[in-house]
Amino acid sequence: MQSADVVIVGAGLSAAAAAKRLADAGLETIVLERMELPRHKTCSGILSPRGHRFLIENFGPLPREALHEPTYCRGVTFHFPSMVSMSMDFFGGTTPHLHRKFADFWAIKRSGAQVQDRTAFTGLEDRGDHVVVSARRDGEDIQYRARHVIGADGPSSAVVRCVYPDYPKRIPWFFVGQKFHNIVACPLDEAYFHFWFHPDLGHYTWSHARDGQQIVGVGFKRGDNFDARHKNVVRYIEEKHGVKLDPHTTHEGCAENFGPSLINRYVFGKGNVLVTGQAAGFLNMIGEGMSCALHSGAISGEAIIEARLRGRPVQEMYRRMIASEVRRTTDQWNPLKIAFARPHEADFPAALTRLSWRERRLVMRDLWRFLVLYKEFKWGRHIIAASLNRLICDGYPARHWI
Ligand SMILES: Cc1cc2nc3c(=O)[nH]c(=O)nc-3n(C[C@H](O)[C@H](O)[C@H](O)COP(=O)(O)OP(=O)(O)OC[C@H]3O[C@@H](n4cnc5c(N)ncnc54)[C@H](O)[C@@H]3O)c2cc1C
Repeated sequence: MQSADVVIVGAGLSAAAAAKRLADAGLETIVLERMELPRHKTCSGILSPRGHRFLIENFGPLPREALHEPTYCRGVTFHFPSMVSMSMDFFGGTTPHLHRKFADFWAIKRSGAQVQDRTAFTGLEDRGDHVVVSARRDGEDIQYRARHVIGADGPSSAVVRCVYPDYPKRIPWFFVGQKFHNIVACPLDEAYFHFWFHPDLGHYTWSHARDGQQIVGVGFKRGDNFDARHKNVVRYIEEKHGVKLDPHTTHEGCAENFGPSLINRYVFGKGNVLVTGQAAGFLNMIGEGMSCALHSGAISGEAIIEARLRGRPVQEMYRRMIASEVRRTTDQWNPLKIAFARPHEADFPAALTRLSWRERRLVMRDLWRFLVLYKEFKWGRHIIAASLNRLICDGYPARHWI
């Protein structure tokens, strides 16, 4: 049985950030990744400016291979059914368009941890003073002994399922998929990420340019039909925006745990097992998950270091330290913050005020109709309660975290 101070499950960006903190502090850290590295990751790859800063400060300048074409993104353009469109530039300039396969590989290599790929986590047993981790590589069962474990294994986290077997049944699941098309004609500005607030198109609808092709993406409640949803969007953007595309060449998609960050229902683990990144529920507005994955991952690593230094339970440390990232992420969904502060990294209120009064009314009406799409999840009550709590206590209640 191989021993380490910490075993991290997953080799994505949250894992890289956690591993960097731990390796820098001299803790022996093993990263287990089920796929062969560099591995593919379904993602649009638009990193927020905050995420970009984190990468530069912690891992150095990005290598060229870690970027798609166009290599940068200037901001976001929102499109509404009333045919009002509003573009918003990111604060602080453009951000990189990450090629996740190579960006994630670059970051995990630079973390300084020992990485074991083609090694799938299968289970764990927390024995109080250490955790026994089970994994499978090339058909063989392997075990590790670690003082602490970090689950950084993304939305369908096996670590979360192991610690809380009934958790997947407690949240609604979405499917998010994107198809890649050769372009016949595309008037959408390729410097922007385009997002549609349109209830007839789905819960999450986007398009942007990548490597000479156009991505058309759709997100919807799991169980619906990807092809039909996607065709509907392709037809709509052709009719309304003049986007003419060839049939798609490739496609990809995965299940998403969209929701925990909206209603402050994060999953942070139990005992010596911490959960971080999207596995914990971190996802910013319009599905930007890399910056909060990086920051929460780093905090999970720091919490272990602090817990060891102070001889305190690691969960106590983590839950105290992660509160800042919870604030940052859940603020993005908080209607009071959206109306009266600037929780996002592009200026929505300023873009709104550039519109005529008539257009502003149309946008507000369209936004409301779009939000009604989410009514079935009954999140409204939780969002209002969390927003009021934030106003009074300057934070989101930790008692709702798992
Ligand atoms: C279609 C789509 C578009 C997106 N676009 C954007 C975007 O433009 N910008 C943005 O910021 N975010 C975007 N996101 C979200 C973003 O990809 C995630 O939030 C982010 O990658 C989460 O990082 P993570 O490290 O927590 O998890 P992940 O990146 O999911 O990494 C988890 C890792 O764990 C590994 N793993 C899983 N199970 C096991 C196991 N049993 N054993 C070992 N390893 C395991 C996986 O293979 C993976 O390498 C998008 C997501 C999707 C689906």
